[in-house]
Amino acid sequence: MGNIILTGDRPTGRLHIGHYVGSLRQRKEMQDKGDYDKFFIEIADAQALTDNYDNPQKIRENVLEVALDYLAIGIDPSKVTIFIQSAVPSLCELTFYYLNLVTLARLERNPTVKDELKSRSFENSIPTGFLTYPISQAADITGFDANLVPVGEDQEPMLEQTREIVRSFNSIYGETLVLPKIVLPSNEACFRLPGTDGKNKMSKSLGNCIYLADEKEVVEKKVMSMYTDPDHVKVSDPGKVEGNTVFTYLDVFCKDEDFEKYLPEYKNLDELKDHYRRGGLGDVKIKRFLNDILQAELEPIRLRRKEWEKRIPEVYKILEEGTKKANEQCLMVTNKVKKAMGIDYFEDTSFLDEFLNKYKGNE
Ligand code: ATP
Ligand code: MG
Repeated sequence: MGNIILTGDRPTGRLHIGHYVGSLRQRKEMQDKGDYDKFFIEIADAQALTDNYDNPQKIRENVLEVALDYLAIGIDPSKVTIFIQSAVPSLCELTFYYLNLVTLARLERNPTVKDELKSRSFENSIPTGFLTYPISQAADITGFDANLVPVGEDQEPMLEQTREIVRSFNSIYGETLVLPKIVLPSNEACFRLPGTDGKNKMSKSLGNCIYLADEKEVVEKKVMSMYTDPDHVKVSDPGKVEGNTVFTYLDVFCKDEDFEKYLPEYKNLDELKDHYRRGGLGDVKIKRFLNDILQAELEPIRLRRKEWEKRIPEVYKILEEGTKKANEQCLMVTNKVKKAMGIDYFEDTSFLDEFLNKYKGNE
């Protein structure tokens, strides 16, 4: 069997440049390379509801926004199936069976969930749905027989949990589920892009994002007010590069050609960093440079989005058709799972025969 790719995002807001470098860019590259049989992208609305159950309107509003962002970065719906999680009910069935294979203690050890619980102040009132979302995510992945999952580094614990469920399921019920592998960005600087505040990872829920759909002026404003080195007060002061968000972004986005185009007095990023460390290089200059690079990367995305914004009914249709296809694939896998578990009563004629045999002597 060839590769089956599955990935997705929570429709808790529009997508930002953290998603772009952590996962979206990789998806586009995989799409263009074409080394797969099937490629699914899930808009994980049901997962988003686990910590937004009291604000369903937010999730509803963002489903189409996220779809627009996918199309804006160049996801091609003729090659990739985009679907809505809650409209694939077999995923709930799979989740229900996988719940038996994971202990409460194991769920509580998940480092990403731990961080998220802290940032959402759920400490003493954790919704069960939220704590168990890694299990539902295992259903999302295995429900499509996916073997490749291109996601950001914060998803590593989810993949580990999924792999544990697969191993456990297969050892109890027989070889059924596919063991998936995470596909991380090749540049480690992209693993966890910090927000413009420099404190946390860039996250829709934390309001520290540069969105793919942000207008030119908005991007510029966000870049110019970014966190740098608080001890670098005067231009002549020596500056710190580590933990300086502008340099972290340059590590992610800057290519040697960008110096020729926008900052020809330096050859490469190492030279720029050395100058900043020595002193004599102002924050405004490095921020302008970063702004030029980001604008060049984001402009085609913004323009493509604007085109799709004129064709919203078509986007809706893409989701509707994608969801139909996703249901077919997931139903096929769910039937396989139920067969392995021996709960396929009406499909398996031997179920009745076995029982009839048991009572044969009583006739
Ligand atoms: P939420 O705050 O609602 O969880 P989010 O911004 O964390 O939203 P998700 O939908 O949870 O976004 O994540 C979607 C994908 O983007 C995942 O693969 C995740 O690993 C990746 N990702 C999210 N934020 C970043 C980031 N700051 N840097 C790199 N990758 C990221
Ligand atoms: Mg997240």
